[in-house]
Amino acid sequence: MSHVFPRHTHKPPPTAVRGAGCYLYDADGKAYLDGSGGAAVSCLGHGDAEIIAAVQEQTAQLAFAHTGFFTSDPAEELADLLAEHAPGDLNRVYFVSGGSEATEAALKLARQYFVETGQPQRRHVIARQQSYHGNTLGALAAGGNAWRRAQFAPLLMDVHHIAPCYEYMLRAEDESAEAYGLRAAQELEDTILRLGPDSVMAFMAEPVVGATLGAVPAVDGYFKRIREICDTYGVLLILDEVMCGMGRTGHLFACEADGVTPDILCIAKGLGAGYQPIGAMLCTGAIYDAIKDGSGFFQHGHTYLGHPVATAAGRAVVRKLLRDDLVARAAWQGDRLSAALTERLGQHPHVGDLRGRGMFQGIELVQDREIKQPFAPEHGLAGKVKAAAFEAGLICYPMSGTRDGKNGDHVLLAPPFIISDAEIDELVDKLSGAIDHAIGSAA
Ligand code: PLP
Repeated sequence: MSHVFPRHTHKPPPTAVRGAGCYLYDADGKAYLDGSGGAAVSCLGHGDAEIIAAVQEQTAQLAFAHTGFFTSDPAEELADLLAEHAPGDLNRVYFVSGGSEATEAALKLARQYFVETGQPQRRHVIARQQSYHGNTLGALAAGGNAWRRAQFAPLLMDVHHIAPCYEYMLRAEDESAEAYGLRAAQELEDTILRLGPDSVMAFMAEPVVGATLGAVPAVDGYFKRIREICDTYGVLLILDEVMCGMGRTGHLFACEADGVTPDILCIAKGLGAGYQPIGAMLCTGAIYDAIKDGSGFFQHGHTYLGHPVATAAGRAVVRKLLRDDLVARAAWQGDRLSAALTERLGQHPHVGDLRGRGMFQGIELVQDREIKQPFAPEHGLAGKVKAAAFEAGLICYPMSGTRDGKNGDHVLLAPPFIISDAEIDELVDKLSGAIDHAIGSAA
């Protein structure tokens, strides 16, 4: 009997024993093409000798020093690298161990910023429906995924959710993309005005929606208008790039494509590329200075903040991304992946939408393409695609309608940036087969 508490208690998973390049191998020697980088984590693929060496060297030299007493070279140098390449004035970096810790810290930093700057009445958070910001209670409250929130609702703080910018489903037929973006952003202003502008502290959003909709970028102009609205009312803009950041969209920071700089930015997943658990929250100098000149202490923290081995892994990952031009590679191999998906699935009767940026691509499956009618949630279609793909030796990331009646079925692809042309072909072949198999069994 296994004593591990698995994700799905009724179906124990196979044992993964080895990773190399874009593949994982189980104990029976079966190979799986990692088409989703786990959950958009493994940007460099598996078994990268350089990152492994960085982790080993740091472990031998200094495995741990508590940030209550010390800083460390890898933490300082990784912070310098991130601050140097981050947009705008995002020049202070707070290291944590993952995505939920990053978004949780962002919410607390926003609150403390207003307490320290004499606006303690600012307490409301606005976020978006069909978003995911993590599974700790603050992050879960900010997220808008009904299925993930449902049973914990009594424990969650009040967060106000507006619609996401989701062109495929929410743009009216006779509306331009630009007009739609402005209309979607207007809901933020309306909500701020309804709550009372002086009471709102932050708006949180993913630049490209990942875990709930499958790689949905906003239309041009949406985030620029969001930035203007936040500035008008003194509301902090928190962008959650835990999934879409660190080069995945073809930009080191996803918000660069939207031409906006948030006040607080969250990253994780690709920062450690799976070699270590690490996340980070970046904030502007202005926010940092308010705390520095105020209490001088951000009232937050975890034991493993700025962990030397985790930051050494992150430092090696970012150095490699920059040195080997892997962000540009994510952009052009992403275009190739997108073209291959369009060629194979663009006319598929049950593929409603193909979208994404770089190595972050999504597929929306629908029962009826003409009227964009999702499959009934009972089919659990995306889960069936995942199972059929896994059987065929492909890992992809599903979001099934059974989890949230409103969400429909989506498949997220987020392969390592090093994926080859032949591996892209294998991915698209196996995925198309899995979609047809799953739809056949759902019909
Ligand atoms: N934010 C986003 C956008 C995510 O996609 C995720 C995880 O998928 C999280 C936060 C939470 O990250 P973690 O699972 O590392 O806590």
